[in-house]
Amino acid sequence: MALKPAQLAWEATLLRERLKFVRELKAELAEPGCAVAASVDAYSSLIDGVIEDVALEVHRAVQTGVDDLADVRHRLASGGGSAGGPPPPPPLPPPVAKGAMVDVFGHVVPPIALDQVSCPNCNRKVAAGRFAPHLEKCMGRGRQASRAANKRLSTMEM
Ligand SMILES: [Zn+2]
Repeated sequence: MALKPAQLAWEATLLRERLKFVRELKAELAEPGCAVAASVDAYSSLIDGVIEDVALEVHRAVQTGVDDLADVRHRLASGGGSAGGPPPPPPLPPPVAKGAMVDVFGHVVPPIALDQVSCPNCNRKVAAGRFAPHLEKCMGRGRQASRAANKRLSTMEM
């Protein structure tokens, strides 16, 4: 499909603007000690580092027999990566109700621990999240137990 004159004019303007930008960038890069040049230098060294890492990794794999040079060449020729294209992205976790707690694996965590533990004092089964208050009451220590004791004392005096 051929471009219409208006589209051609727009494309020409766009290309001219891009050329102007590239010329400006080139002029800025030529200035000593400018921020653009420093940014490009930093970015280049990062890219160089990544390339060096990959090259060393492949070299080590081939030298230790983990990978085959022919396989590496084949992967490079077919656009890199493993055979059959990139691995599919992991499935999305199921939606989580607002306000629910989620652990690092995306599993919904109940607001209190529901695992059953047996009380060493009375041998009753108690939810782990309720164990501390139960133990306070059961062992006669803590705020709740002292309140209960005060209540008992006050009723005895009357
Ligand atoms: Zn108990």
